Amino acid sequence: MTNRPEVNPSILEIAAYVPGKSKAAPGIEPIKLSANESPLGASPKAQEAYRYHAHNLAIYPDGAATQLREAIGEVHGLDPQKIGVGSGSDELLHLIAQLYLQPGDEAVMSQFGFLVYPIVTRGAGGTPIFAAETDLKTDVDAMLGAVTEKTKVVYLANPNNPTGSYLTADELDRLHAGLPKNVLLVIDAAYAEYVDAADYKLGIDLVDAHQNVVVTRTFSKIGLANLRVGWLYGPDHFMDGFNRLRGPFNVNGAAMKAAEAAVRDVEFTAQLKAHNKRLRSLLEAELQSNWYRTRPSQGNFVLTEFSEEPGHTAKDAFEALLQEGLVVREMASYGLPNALRISIGHEKDMKKLMQVLQSLN
Ligand SMILES: *Cc1c(COP(=O)(O)O)cnc(C)c1O
Repeated sequence: MTNRPEVNPSILEIAAYVPGKSKAAPGIEPIKLSANESPLGASPKAQEAYRYHAHNLAIYPDGAATQLREAIGEVHGLDPQKIGVGSGSDELLHLIAQLYLQPGDEAVMSQFGFLVYPIVTRGAGGTPIFAAETDLKTDVDAMLGAVTEKTKVVYLANPNNPTGSYLTADELDRLHAGLPKNVLLVIDAAYAEYVDAADYKLGIDLVDAHQNVVVTRTFSKIGLANLRVGWLYGPDHFMDGFNRLRGPFNVNGAAMKAAEAAVRDVEFTAQLKAHNKRLRSLLEAELQSNWYRTRPSQGNFVLTEFSEEPGHTAKDAFEALLQEGLVVREMASYGLPNALRISIGHEKDMKKLMQVLQSLN
C-alpha cells in the first residue's frame, strides 16, 4: 500500500500537451499564428446566436443535441442518428480511446501525427505505437506494418497537423482495406474545410460501407475554437457505445446554438477557405529558398523547415518573428526541432512574416 493515492501508471507516461505560445516580446502586441485559429473570427451569425443564448444560462442544454445534429446532417447530407457531438474533438478522441482501449491494447498512429492521440491512448491505459513517416507524410505500409493482434484503434489526421500532408482517397482506401475488421480506423478531419486537393476524400463512404470507421470533425478551425465543439460520424454500433459513455450534457447550449448557426453559414466557411487558400499559396511560394523549405499544406497552416546554419535555424527565425510580435508554433515537441508551424492569418501579418523571414535569408 502506498501512503497517498497514486494516479494510474499509464497516465504518468503522458507528456502533457503544450499549446502554442500566445505572448510576444514584452511591450509588443502579439499576433498569434500558433494555434490554427480563424483569422476572420467567427461567423457573425454564430456570434449572434451565442449572444442570444445569454438569457438561458440556468437551463440544462439538450443532452441529445438534436438541433445541432440535425443542422450538421442537413448541411453535410448525413443521417443525424450517426452524428455525435463533443466538447471539442479532443473530447471525442478521449471517448473513442475509452470505448476501445484497455491496458495491454495498442493504438497505431503516424510518427508526426497529432499529439493528442498518444495522450488519449495512454489515458485509457493503452500503448501508442508510432509508424515511421516518409518525407513527413503518413506511410500507409508503415501504418499497416505496425498493426498487431493487440491493435484496437488506428488514428489518422487527414490532412495532418502539423505537417499539412494528406492521404489521397486511394491511399485512405488502401489503409482501410489492410486493417483487420476488429480495428477501428479514426479519420480525424479537423482541417476538412480547408482542403482543395481533388484526390482527397473525407471517408464518409467508408463509414457507410463498413463497421470499423469513424470520422471526426471540429468547429475549432472555422472560428469557434473558444466554444469547444466537435462532431463525429460513425456506424450505429459505435454510436450506441458513444451515447452510453459520453457525459449526458457534454456540450453547452450556447456553444451548440453558435455551432448550429456556424454550420449553416456556408458562405462564411467558403470565405474563410478562399482567404486561407490565397495566403497559403503565397506563403508556400515565397518561403522556398536555400534556407527554408515550406511543405505544401491542405490545412490553415504551413510547416516550414529551416537550415542548420547558425543565423538561419528555426530558433533564429522564431526569435526574429517574436521581436515583431509574430508568434508561431515551435515544433520540438513533435520531434521536428528545426521546423516551425505557421498559421495562416491576416494578409498584413503574413506579409510582415515573409519580410522577417526574407531578411534572415
Ligand atoms: C485542432 C485539431 C483538433 C481539434 O481540436 P478541438 O479544438 O478539440 O476540436 C483535432 N485534430 C487535429 C489534427 C487538430 O489539429
